[in-house]
Amino acid sequence: MKLPENFGENVFNDAVQKDTLPSETYKALRATIEEGKPLDTAIAGSVASAMKKWAISKGATHFTHWFQPLTGFTAEKHDSFIEPESDHVIMKFSGKNLIVGEPDASSFPSGGSRATYMARGYTAWDPTSPAFVKDGTLYIPSIFVSYTGETLDKKAPLLKSMSALDKQAKRILKLFGIECKKVATTVGPEQEYFLISAEDYERRKDLRLCGRTLFGAPASRGQELEDHYFGVLKPAISAYMRDLDAELWSYGILSKTKHNEVAPAQHEMAPVFTTSNISVDANMLTMEIMKKVAEKHGLVCLLHEKPFEGINGSGKHNNWSMSTDTGLNLLNPGKEPENNTLFKLVLAAVIKSVDDYQGILRASVASAGNDHRLGANEAPPAIISVYLGDQLGALVDCIVKGESYVPVKAEKGSIGVPESPIFPKDATDRNRTSPFAFTGNKFEFRMPGSQANVADPNIVLNTIVADAFAAFADELEKAKDIEAAANKIIKRELKAHYRIIFNLDGYGPDWEPEAAKRGLLNNKNTADAVPVFFEKKNIDVFVRNGVYTEQEAVARGEVALENYSKIINIEALTMLDMAKQDIIPALSDYVAKLSANLTTKKSAVSGAPSLAETTLITELATLNDKLFTAVRKLEGDLANIDKDDVRAASKAMAHTIIPDMEDVRTVADEAEKLAASNYWPYPSYSDMLYRVKYAK
Ligand code: ADP
Ligand code: MG
Repeated sequence: MKLPENFGENVFNDAVQKDTLPSETYKALRATIEEGKPLDTAIAGSVASAMKKWAISKGATHFTHWFQPLTGFTAEKHDSFIEPESDHVIMKFSGKNLIVGEPDASSFPSGGSRATYMARGYTAWDPTSPAFVKDGTLYIPSIFVSYTGETLDKKAPLLKSMSALDKQAKRILKLFGIECKKVATTVGPEQEYFLISAEDYERRKDLRLCGRTLFGAPASRGQELEDHYFGVLKPAISAYMRDLDAELWSYGILSKTKHNEVAPAQHEMAPVFTTSNISVDANMLTMEIMKKVAEKHGLVCLLHEKPFEGINGSGKHNNWSMSTDTGLNLLNPGKEPENNTLFKLVLAAVIKSVDDYQGILRASVASAGNDHRLGANEAPPAIISVYLGDQLGALVDCIVKGESYVPVKAEKGSIGVPESPIFPKDATDRNRTSPFAFTGNKFEFRMPGSQANVADPNIVLNTIVADAFAAFADELEKAKDIEAAANKIIKRELKAHYRIIFNLDGYGPDWEPEAAKRGLLNNKNTADAVPVFFEKKNIDVFVRNGVYTEQEAVARGEVALENYSKIINIEALTMLDMAKQDIIPALSDYVAKLSANLTTKKSAVSGAPSLAETTLITELATLNDKLFTAVRKLEGDLANIDKDDVRAASKAMAHTIIPDMEDVRTVADEAEKLAASNYWPYPSYSDMLYRVKYAK
């Protein structure tokens, strides 16, 4: 890969569009992309023709509408360009082919909002995200809706939420005398992942079927030496990352930073931020490419939030902001935030909306996988709070208390090494324990899980902030003195929502009881977090801003709960299989072997010492019985769940099945520590976490 020449070589990007489209078509398309103007469908034919020619020159034979149904994955159905003509074929791709596709919608989740006999679904071209060629196919980013117009995907509501925010932010900006064509939300998602050897992966049924280990005693070496974070990259990992970057860059993905993460075998890639919808598409593609490139290296990329118990899980920090097309970042405090009324108003809107809608923000990142992470000690707790840092925190305190603010000036720091240049000290230190932290000119939402589609949290963020802007704009548009009215709103709202601000250690033991006192929500698992989607206030905010209809909002909740129950069910069944087919028999064999050894030894030398054998036989046989009992309990409880009752089933999964599974695991892991390694049916944690060294 040659940079910068080959960056984005597989993408039908601005430069290619400019090169290949008639100038009128190009202008019309850019107006849709950059200013949000409705697409002029008359240009579709001309765009399709240029796209086809370009795609064929890149080796494409097929095209597909690429969309993001509620499964959480991407979906695609490939059609070739060929069209018979007498005894040969021509390559055809019309404007209609570009604009709409008609996949059968009946096999995609819809949360019961649509009867299966109403199977018709449409995919529609999303011109705001560029098409690309991959594996001989032209990929056309698309939205997915039903025949009756309900959205069945994550992309359409994301675009709607962006447009809601655009509309309301512009009302606010106008009041401050700022004119712009568009306010776009921006996202930079930092992607964490694990790499393990393909050989080990193949031998772990749990990893293959569930993406996480259901059993496994801890390795004698965990992450306590803190040597992995930012550590030297092993050759195999470095080779992987180089290939990954080249692939990502060829698709125009702005992969920027790469490093080892905290846990052994854990790594991270952070891209440069861009417009939310493009960022979401890029992240979905990134996850796919991460897995594909790993295969070439004899590795497997694990994107699960908690592949290994006892060491750090993986998240996807969602860095979020809003910017005008003229380059103004609405979350940039500037040099004197205390005198920047617009910034303070925007900040108040974010704080207000995060407090008012903490429930849906939390729910938007709830999943079976992320449940193992949120609230565990490496991740932000399941409680939403906002971190502002010293400087902004002090400013907000003063506003709320009505005191005058004396700015905390960034000190000129020196590190005390004479050769090193003096560096200015940041006015705010980093806080790694807050779920929603202000980091200079953006907020970093740290709750999303590593395999999540970040469309979900961004739909909520954009919607709730748009809603706060709308309320502020309604009030300000009536005011005579905007500055005074804005300051009144700022003070009132910061006061009203002060409870959501927490600038201290979110991992400390004091925070949970303190948060409870403040009345903040603390929904620890998906089954408890998602039902907030069914509350009127939360449905209303989506409806009011044109993001979901009531039915769509409820359907999203239903699908999330259904997905959750299905995942736990698969995990429980896999666990039962592993215990019954592999672990219980292995333990029984090993006990038999120890017993045979004991008998042999006794007959060879009567009275020979046999403490090891007799103790191990007793301990392992006891553990195997306990395991058997725990397995039967899990099996029984699982059979009792009424899977048709989505809401009740999810509660039973969270509160009965998960604890049952923990019991099974505890006993089995205890046994693994005692059993001979050649009798244990699976690669151990130390195998998986410390085997990868060199490239294949
Ligand atoms: P760190 O989290 O280590 O402080 P950075 O501040 O460099 O790292 O940024 C982390 C991520 O935030 C990157 O993906 C970056 O592109 C993204 N980011 C920076 N500015 C913005 C913004 N205005 N909107 C959205 N994301 C942003
Ligand atoms: Mg970060």
